[in-house]
Amino acid sequence: MDRLNGPADLMIVSDLDFTMVDHDDPESVALLRFNALWEAYYRHNSLLVYSTGRSPTIYRDLRKQKPLLTPDITIMSVGTEITYGDSMVPDERWKQSLDHNWNREIVMEETAKFPDLILQSETEQRPHKVSFYLEKGKASKVMQALSKYLETRGLDVKIIYSNGIALDVLPKAAGKGQALKFLLEKLKDGGLKPIHTLVCGDSGNDAELFTVSEVYGVLVSNAQEELVQWYSENARGNAQIIHATERCAAGIMQAIDNFSLGPNVSPRDISDSMFKRKNLSPGHEVVMFYLFYERWRRGEVENSEQYIQILRSIFHPTGNFVHPSGVDQSMHQCIDTIVNLFGDKRCIDFHVWVDCVSFAEVSFRSWLVKFDKWESSGEICLVI
Ligand SMILES: [Mg+2]
Repeated sequence: MDRLNGPADLMIVSDLDFTMVDHDDPESVALLRFNALWEAYYRHNSLLVYSTGRSPTIYRDLRKQKPLLTPDITIMSVGTEITYGDSMVPDERWKQSLDHNWNREIVMEETAKFPDLILQSETEQRPHKVSFYLEKGKASKVMQALSKYLETRGLDVKIIYSNGIALDVLPKAAGKGQALKFLLEKLKDGGLKPIHTLVCGDSGNDAELFTVSEVYGVLVSNAQEELVQWYSENARGNAQIIHATERCAAGIMQAIDNFSLGPNVSPRDISDSMFKRKNLSPGHEVVMFYLFYERWRRGEVENSEQYIQILRSIFHPTGNFVHPSGVDQSMHQCIDTIVNLFGDKRCIDFHVWVDCVSFAEVSFRSWLVKFDKWESSGEICLVI
């Protein structure tokens, strides 16, 4: 957050599984389209927040499996843990605020009385979250009874059922919606309240996100029954919340367009990006360059000298590319290397994306651009 000089233009707060990440799309087409859009137009002035039911352990697993960008803020374990930056520094004040009328041991004692509740793995049991599996048909009865038992024991809890299978018991003050309210207050106190906030979700534990005031919301087209039902009962007349016709990350981009929150055409959706270039910002140039690099290596563009000439014209003759290893090469030498790679990744599931693009004008019309570049050929591996 420190990298922003003022309030974010847009803060996207998105669930991960089946919202940002489509597990039915092995090539992550929509996610890669979103990534290019975000890095080209939003990274430098906006905030990306993930809000997931996953604990830190399985959140990190997902980051290794899918081409997810690095978020500015990560809200995990159904809004019970908030961390900042890539190093994931925890918000201690949030943690402490959840201790009120919460006792994990009592939750364990009372839930043990329900044989239908199957405890989830150890990694999903967190200081302020106890998680179970529960069959859909039994959910409503168990939730009602458990709620009474815990109230009798003096606890103030929230019981959330998601995806037709997962039941979470949390402190009443927790949850994705409460965590977002806390975050917005914190940003407001620092004079950094985002100009627009868009929340995105697909399942029961996301419903709270849509109740936060002044936010735009999108239920992706593939939203679970329980969230669609919540929407029809609570938000159908609310013009600030839509049920997208597109799945997952494509639904998020649809919402950006619907609410006119900023650019919504992903650079990946521009077929001949080299000829239709617009000189917008150094960040945009980096995205467009690596998009061309991917298409060149996949042999999806014409093997034409014209492309190479355009590439040479984009970069100043003294422009340099510095690898984190310290190896430094002129941009024109890099282009010479690329020429020889035409089509070498044809027929391979090859993708390239950039993350954390930042830039600063170091002298007149001279820019230092930093970024992480990732490549995947079936399996994800860090290249730069
Ligand atoms: Mg989800």
